[in-house]
Amino acid sequence: FNGAIGPYKGGLRFAPSVNLSIMKFLGFEQTFKDSLTTLPIGGAKGGSDFDPNGKSDREVMRFCQAFMTELYRHIGPDVDVPAGDLGVGGREIGYLFGQYRKLRGAYENGVLTGKARSFGGSLIRPEATGFGAVYYLESVMKHEHDTLEGKTVAVAGFGNVAWGAAQKLVQLGAKLVTISGPDGYIYDEKGLTQEGVDYMLELRASNNDVVAPYAEKFGAKFFPKAKPWEVKCDIAFPCAIQNELNEEDAKKLVANGCQMVVETSNMGCTAEAVNYLNEHITFAPGKAANAGGVAVSGLEMSQNSMRYSWTAEEVDAKLSQIMKDIHDTCVKFGREGNKINYVKGANIGGFIKVAEAMCAQGHC
Ligand code: GLU
Repeated sequence: FNGAIGPYKGGLRFAPSVNLSIMKFLGFEQTFKDSLTTLPIGGAKGGSDFDPNGKSDREVMRFCQAFMTELYRHIGPDVDVPAGDLGVGGREIGYLFGQYRKLRGAYENGVLTGKARSFGGSLIRPEATGFGAVYYLESVMKHEHDTLEGKTVAVAGFGNVAWGAAQKLVQLGAKLVTISGPDGYIYDEKGLTQEGVDYMLELRASNNDVVAPYAEKFGAKFFPKAKPWEVKCDIAFPCAIQNELNEEDAKKLVANGCQMVVETSNMGCTAEAVNYLNEHITFAPGKAANAGGVAVSGLEMSQNSMRYSWTAEEVDAKLSQIMKDIHDTCVKFGREGNKINYVKGANIGGFIKVAEAMCAQGHC
């Protein structure tokens, strides 16, 4: 999409719903998100309508190899650096890198991010999107003279992003009462414990794309085919997929006393929901709140270029600082009297850097 401030950078999505229109919104958002991270990364997105659910490891491996056999001509550590997104995690990145290395005949591990630790992956990359969203939330709350401790939070999703957010929320003393999947949502009245958060990994690994088994194991309620936006909460965290929170959901949340929505999925809220939430409560848009994932991808590229690796504490500290800086950018460009319009702040803040770089390079 845009290579003005760095190599094209964004995730690959493998899901049956993938089409050109979805790639376009993801790539467009990614360009401004990557700009907000403060790191030198351009914007890109890719993917396929291949569905990894229910496939064997071997089938997934063969698909990744075939995909890379075409893609390798178009990417490189200084050209275009893919990573994961829905349906693409550490396993897929490993198979993709193996095929790239074989075809390229050189060790260029900066060509993909989200790799396993043993061949150049960054510590904290798996947690980064979720951790980053919670760090962003902390900055917003600090700005509003509030804290996370004791707040009731509803999370949607149970994949990598929801898991990272859940881990950090529980660690910081929030009461996390829901997770969800395509089959429905779980309501755990007492709040998820670390054991419940760890169990999300097992649910994921089962490859069935369901959360229902959580209810039985932890004595929680399961609501089939429903979304968690009907529960009473202080903060809502859509962490699954685009358009998972619509205007009707937004109205329900506000009516139930929700004070803040942290859009952690890419375009998790419909345009109508964004307008409604932005008018009534605090709304943190995805391109700012979920930028921690690609930010640590950028840090993985730095480590690969240096042929060196940072400790988990070092990466986490850099991530936390980046999320604070993104928040400050949103405040700078989003101020409207006493209120901060985070949607406006993120859009303008992300856009200006890309536009300046393009104009300076004679491309506008
Ligand atoms: N798919 C993630 C995103 O939407 C991460 C992209 C990356 O790490 O390049 O930002």
